[in-house]
Amino acid sequence: MAEKYSPTIENYLGLLYVLDRDSEPAVGTRIADQLGVSPPTVTNTLKRMVRDGLVEMDASHLPHLTPTGREAARSLMRRHMLAEWMLSRHLSWSKTHEEAHRFEHAISPELEEALIRELKSPALCPHGNPLPGYEDVVANWIPLIKIQAGSKGIVRRIHELAEDTPHVLSFLEGKKVEPGAPMKILENLSFNQTVTVEVASNTFAIGYAMARYIFLEIE
Ligand SMILES: [Zn+2]
Ligand SMILES: [Zn+2]
Repeated sequence: MAEKYSPTIENYLGLLYVLDRDSEPAVGTRIADQLGVSPPTVTNTLKRMVRDGLVEMDASHLPHLTPTGREAARSLMRRHMLAEWMLSRHLSWSKTHEEAHRFEHAISPELEEALIRELKSPALCPHGNPLPGYEDVVANWIPLIKIQAGSKGIVRRIHELAEDTPHVLSFLEGKKVEPGAPMKILENLSFNQTVTVEVASNTFAIGYAMARYIFLEIE
């Protein structure tokens, strides 16, 4: 059975896993921002993780998961996404991620297996992010910032890094920007850093900061 890590360590494992998967550098300030802690706290926690064999530092002092760390992170990601599905029966789409952060640490291997069976081995979380091992499923979806005006598509995915900002999820839910929703791209202004879209007969602008985390399947 996998070793149990504290919720704090598991949160770092999850974030490092996502940054590494997407080939994004795990800079200390980025980790601090995303987890809502101070940069010195990040440094200390990473030191502990290096000591425990979960993380190693490269030549430019960026943390990377060791094979042990990656295995623990994959297990965490799976439990998080299964918890989201379980909670999505009771909570709105924008609330499941936050609640799942509390549940994921308590899911036993037995419950994990039962959920996978019951949910028929899901490839994606309710926000369209891939369970570890299912990255291929999302490979052809395109971030909204790269889609030209005049295109049409289906919203498929709200990236994990946006899930962590609750007001982003409730904004998107309020505008019906959710997996499965048809979307028309009316304008994409790189100089203005906005994309204007039409969803469910509503027209509105989305800034690049958020649009980079919304992925579509183009028709
Ligand atoms: Zn989530
Ligand atoms: Zn999710």
